[in-house]
Amino acid sequence: MAFDFDLFVIGAGSGGVRAARFAAAYGARVAVAESRYLGGTCVNVGCVPKKLLVYGAHFGQEFRQAQGFGWSIDDSRFDWSTLIANKDREIQRLNGIYRNLLVNSGVQLLEGHARLIDGHHVEVNGQRHSAEHILIATGGWPHVPEFPGHEHAISSNEAFFLDKLPERVLVVGGGYIAVEFASIFHGLGAKTSLLYRRELFLRGFDNSMREHLRDEMLRNGVDLQFNSDIVRIDKQADGTLSATLADGRVLEADCVFYATGRRPMLDSLGLENTSVTLNDKGFIQVDELYQTSEPSILAIGDVTGRVQLTPVALAEGMAVARRLFKPKEYRPVDYDLIPTAVFSLPNIGTVGLSEEEARKTFRVKVYESRFRPMKLSLTDDQERTLMKIIVDADTDRVLGCHMIGPEAGEIIQGLAVALKAGATKQTFDETMGIHPTAAEEFVTMR
Ligand code: FAD
Ligand code: NDP
Repeated sequence: MAFDFDLFVIGAGSGGVRAARFAAAYGARVAVAESRYLGGTCVNVGCVPKKLLVYGAHFGQEFRQAQGFGWSIDDSRFDWSTLIANKDREIQRLNGIYRNLLVNSGVQLLEGHARLIDGHHVEVNGQRHSAEHILIATGGWPHVPEFPGHEHAISSNEAFFLDKLPERVLVVGGGYIAVEFASIFHGLGAKTSLLYRRELFLRGFDNSMREHLRDEMLRNGVDLQFNSDIVRIDKQADGTLSATLADGRVLEADCVFYATGRRPMLDSLGLENTSVTLNDKGFIQVDELYQTSEPSILAIGDVTGRVQLTPVALAEGMAVARRLFKPKEYRPVDYDLIPTAVFSLPNIGTVGLSEEEARKTFRVKVYESRFRPMKLSLTDDQERTLMKIIVDADTDRVLGCHMIGPEAGEIIQGLAVALKAGATKQTFDETMGIHPTAAEEFVTMR
């Protein structure tokens, strides 16, 4: 049977664009359908605009620190509209780059919602297209739980486009997005509370990092309310939102921001016309080759719910393109030792096992260093950095590196290479430090 395309990709986000571009470069006839924005979540309402807001939020702290170095910052006012307009312009530029990347690599771009008709056919804007392989890369969408007044809450999708910076914000959740946005809102000057349903946020991260972040956020003046949950939100005539908590307290705010996880984007995708199945969490079920239960349909990225990070979606897109169209170069994605950063204030960077995870399997040695960064020595900022190395006591192999402090993500990226290469604590000890840096602490801990 002759198909219009060798590969039809649904979703031009991180994973979809990568798969489409490389499949086309390997000589395949490729189409990609995108219903919303080129570049997907990461470029439009995720990593990129988030990091720009994080940079924006850091300036307040830096202006205060600058005074210790002799600078007078007489008139430091923040204007939300300027930040958002500049951010929007940058995102538009990136959208254009993504368009050029696709078009220049020979991918046919179809702008519209794609719906599966069967295992080999997709409909976009009323037109049917056939393909030998179909790749679902439709990503995820914020999930706000249902309760009375939940419609007054916003998610990260809306936060990037608010008309003005709210004066009082309640952030709900305890994952990446909640702590990052609580740091952003607070850093930009909003009175910020973070409400999390359990005793401490960032479940799954090393406990020392979680506790240190809690202490630093409290010291910075973020109102942290653990073991708290909102049961209803009422909107008053002047627009103020009154959030009633499970314990009966009522908190008032101008914005209630929910960051309570993301669900796969499956809306009107036509899965019912195929034999694609979902796993127990509602994400598309795939095997280790990203194969769904419909033989001609694959799925990658957030819609499969495995690891919701852009570099992972990119790697999966690459793996699919190679396996289908350049099998000699195919290598499976290695999900071991994925480094990650939380762009809170201060940042967390981490790779490998937490102390708690490591202790379940290994006899461990733990090395820790807590210090006040040199940059703060001329300021009255009391922020402290924490670095931690987890070592297998029997083999000396480094199992995990964790840091909370300025540029933690930048520093941990290099250490992820060392851990991938199987570095031992002795390798760390034999590595020269770069002096004076914070990073050198990782090779001087004894
Ligand atoms: P997406 O990038 O979501 O792309 C899916 C695309 O499919 C979208 O463009 C969508 O419009 C389109 N689509 C959906 N349905 C259809 C349809 N039926 N027809 C046509 N098109 C369709 N990750 C990091 O690594 N670092 C970070 O700092 C980071 N920060 C984040 C901050 C926020 C606020 C959020 C929400 C996420 C963040 N992430 C971060 C996660 C990262 O954005 C995702 O893991 C990544 O974008 C997933 O890529 P994807 O290709 O699976 O899906
Ligand atoms: P996460 O899954 O990381 O966190 C969700 C949080 O919401 C958890 O703390 C969870 O609590 C809580 N929660 C879930 N349901 C409810 C509920 N009904 N009521 C109250 N609280 C609830 O999701 P995010 O939305 O923060 O982010 C989605 C994903 O995007 C991340 O997992 C990450 O993979 C990616 N991302 C990556 C970033 C980065 O790399 N820097 C930045 C932002 C996002 P509990 O702990 O009890 O389950």
